[in-house]
Amino acid sequence: MLAGLAEIADTGRDSRRGGYSRHLWQGADLELRTWFALRAERLGLNVETDRNGNLWAWWGEPGPDAVVTGSHLDSVPGGGAYDGPLGVVSALEAVARLRASGFTPSRPCAVLVCAEEEGSRFGIACLGSRLLTGGIDADRARALIDADGITLAQAARRAGLDPAHLGADRDALARIGLFIELHVEQGRGLVDLGRPVAVASSILAHGRWRLTVTGQGNHAGATPMEDRRDPLVAAARAIVAVQDAAENHPGARATVGRLEVVPGGTNVIASSVHAWLDARAPTDAETRDLVAAIEAAVGEAALVNGCSVAVTEESWTGTVTFDPELVGRFRSVLGGDALVPALPTGAGHDAGVLAASVPSAMLFVRNPTGVSHSPEEFAEVGDCVAGIDALETLLRSVL
Ligand SMILES: [Zn+2]
Repeated sequence: MLAGLAEIADTGRDSRRGGYSRHLWQGADLELRTWFALRAERLGLNVETDRNGNLWAWWGEPGPDAVVTGSHLDSVPGGGAYDGPLGVVSALEAVARLRASGFTPSRPCAVLVCAEEEGSRFGIACLGSRLLTGGIDADRARALIDADGITLAQAARRAGLDPAHLGADRDALARIGLFIELHVEQGRGLVDLGRPVAVASSILAHGRWRLTVTGQGNHAGATPMEDRRDPLVAAARAIVAVQDAAENHPGARATVGRLEVVPGGTNVIASSVHAWLDARAPTDAETRDLVAAIEAAVGEAALVNGCSVAVTEESWTGTVTFDPELVGRFRSVLGGDALVPALPTGAGHDAGVLAASVPSAMLFVRNPTGVSHSPEEFAEVGDCVAGIDALETLLRSVL
């Protein structure tokens, strides 16, 4: 494993799920933030936390027109070691190499760690970059609650931030002239092409919806089968309907990976079930079509059990097409199109959110299995080093 990743290999291990659970401003995430600050300060960078909890480590005076590179340190529940941290470690390493070589940048440079990229604590992916860019309303964000009923406002206060200052940060954003995020590939594009590094071309439209299935809570022993309105059975039908709908939409992906059964007792017929839908498709229109089809299908599926379904959109990100001129330029700086493919991805990223406001690009590092958001996620050391080489080359070309 890459040295920087090895330093944090014991932080946030999840003994129950396997892999890592590193959630915003909780134990492991706080430890990683401290680790990052120390690591960056040792490099001679000046570390600051912006008003949305994103960490910036500056080489030289902060902005304007800075080249910013980084990723995130939080994880999904039971996630892998590479999604996020590889980009942060690579950014620190690339900057360290530039400094050690005596390189003098002609514009400011920073390493950025975005907060709550996975949305594992407050449910909104890329929350730190959405807040920074004004991509989410600050009042709505402040009211988000975690699994323990703690609001983002309360959690921010505990983390030492003023919740009144959460939200669009024009000054911080204006400092970014270019953002580059290196990330482990979440797919097998590079494996199929036999290359270690790619430049990202686009990100599928994607979003999250909450399906609330409502039935009738009752006694598991005293309620005859024909008298039941069981929302968990309805949810099971609804989940199959989600899969069928996605299979009927070419290129679409739809997943229910999280359920909350209320009240959740072995001898209790549930009264309601919350199911979270993650849906993605190549274009905004196709994604909207998919979700409309899912909405109709889950409603019908639930009716079979006398239940109803309410669908609430929790987040939405349209298709991101990275600036073709920038993609082309970076591919040529890295050795040309034959060596460095341009690949689309189905995974969302802070670079995708930032791309709406500032020029942004991504590098992908080969993932031999394509598996991600799982303890199985992996990248060979040699490929990680190739990623750092590529990032260093790009930084030299733009700084
Ligand atoms: Zn990630």
